[in-house]
Amino acid sequence: MRLKEKTALITGGNSGIGLATAKLFVAEGARVVITGRNRQALEAAAKELGPNGLALAADATDIAASEAAIKQGAEKFGKLDIVFANAGIAGGTPLGSATPEVFEQVIGTNLTGVFFTVQSALPYLNDNASIILNGSVISVLGIPGYSAYGAAKAGVRAMARIMASELSPRGIRVNVVAPGAIHTPMWGPATATPEAEKAFEKRIALSTPLGRLGETDHVAKTVLFLASDDSAHVQGQEIFVDGGAVASPSGAPIYRG
Ligand code: NDP
Repeated sequence: MRLKEKTALITGGNSGIGLATAKLFVAEGARVVITGRNRQALEAAAKELGPNGLALAADATDIAASEAAIKQGAEKFGKLDIVFANAGIAGGTPLGSATPEVFEQVIGTNLTGVFFTVQSALPYLNDNASIILNGSVISVLGIPGYSAYGAAKAGVRAMARIMASELSPRGIRVNVVAPGAIHTPMWGPATATPEAEKAFEKRIALSTPLGRLGETDHVAKTVLFLASDDSAHVQGQEIFVDGGAVASPSGAPIYRG
């Protein structure tokens, strides 16, 4: 068990990557506090996690609500050793038709929400804790239609390095996990029907050197590494979990003869 006696907070822990990570953490011996907005999904996740899971409704864009949830979690399970700031939304902002409302919502959730999750957690963090921020390949890939999302995720990688400087005196590590396309509900209509899902998987596979869509466990296992003492000397880094999409795009099936 790699997280025995550890307490973790995972924002957006009732779905997708966050839920997969919460389940893996519990299996590795941790007590896990998850947050999200959808109460039904929170209840379902709490059942899956069992007695070492605590599911709390809190909107990551509502600083007071986040603070209250973190306080409640720490009171139940003890001070935090791990924070996975994972809550995020997609949301397109294509040049020409983006609205200020969507732009602000994407930045508010994926950037501002991440900063204040970490700030709110600070008083409840043990020294030598590990903070992992969820980034994205979109911070560097220039995928059309995602200016706000890409800017937020690029901001996350910048913030991680700054936070790593600020928190190193306490031995607290801050790193980023940056997924490529992963099989989660986030893709909405793109994967809503079996046909759409198949077409989506094919498109991603063609442009990914390892030739497939990523699974939530690919990311969860990387987050486990960053959360655990296995990465004790890894500070301020970003690990891409993207099948090679960022590092070696020319290896993708679409370029093979
Ligand atoms: P999901 O839609 O499955 O999960 C998103 C999670 O974030 C949900 O638990 C959701 O819960 C929560 N969430 C969203 N907004 C808020 C909010 N305002 N307050 C609290 N919780 C919130 O998608 P993923 O698992 O894919 O996404 C998780 C993270 O991974 C995101 O940061 C995303 O940007 C990142 N990512 C995902 C990729 C992918 O291909 N799937 C690729 C790269 C990065 P609720 O709706 O109940 O609030």
